[in-house]
Amino acid sequence: VLSVRGVVKRYGDHTVLDGISLDVREHEVVTVIGSSGSGKSTLLRCVNLLEELDDGQVLLDGVDVSDPRVDADVARRGMGIVFQAFNLFPHMTVLDNVTLAPRVVHRVPREEAERNALDLLDRVGLADRAGGYPEQLSGGQQQRVAIARALAYSPRLLLLDEITSALDPELVGEVLALVRELAEAGRTILMATHEMGFARQVADRVVFLDGGRLVESGPPEQVLGEPVHPRTRQFLRRII
Ligand code: ATP
Ligand code: MG
Repeated sequence: VLSVRGVVKRYGDHTVLDGISLDVREHEVVTVIGSSGSGKSTLLRCVNLLEELDDGQVLLDGVDVSDPRVDADVARRGMGIVFQAFNLFPHMTVLDNVTLAPRVVHRVPREEAERNALDLLDRVGLADRAGGYPEQLSGGQQQRVAIARALAYSPRLLLLDEITSALDPELVGEVLALVRELAEAGRTILMATHEMGFARQVADRVVFLDGGRLVESGPPEQVLGEPVHPRTRQFLRRII
């Protein structure tokens, strides 16, 4: 589904991504780990074409969507993204948050968009909150709405950037449970996370970034259990 090839991203003379290559195959769950500042968010933002690449390519279903001639807005519709901080529109109801993109971008008729949204909200356990506003929800509920909103585009690929790190510990579980359900339902997911237990249980592959380089990648039991690279070992020792 996704192929990242030699992606380089610089801010001024600071190289934040230094030639990252990785593939995410259909139905695969790939988690990106690494210390703060290692480039995880930048990588997801580059994949979502929110950043211009300084080198390399991002291919979605074989199409080079990083090509400047490709309309980024069109390419982005193949991906749903959820960020760390809740980014729901505060002045809109839960239902309107979920239906906005399908209605405005995809021109889906309101009735159909709302039916689909209610179905998605039902799947994230929040159908009864459709008429409420984001501020009336807990952080975990808001993130579940944000996931429903990302799914409303029927994306090929779901990009999740530390979606639990701003949550109180007791709310983390409900959001991770939802991601696990999506993974079991066969969604293709690229996810930056600090939740090593989750990565171990749910990910097909774990990718370790260090200083903008992809240092190690493999099945969770290998990368988290028997890392070969000293930087990975050091990182895991520090966080456990
Ligand atoms: P965290 O775990 O804290 O979320 P991260 O791995 O997601 O960290 P990034 O947010 O990708 O890290 O940041 C990587 C590096 O890029 C950092 O050194 C950061 O300061 C720098 N950086 C990110 N965005 C910008 C920007 N818009 N302008 C300049 N530097 C930036
Ligand atoms: Mg980040």
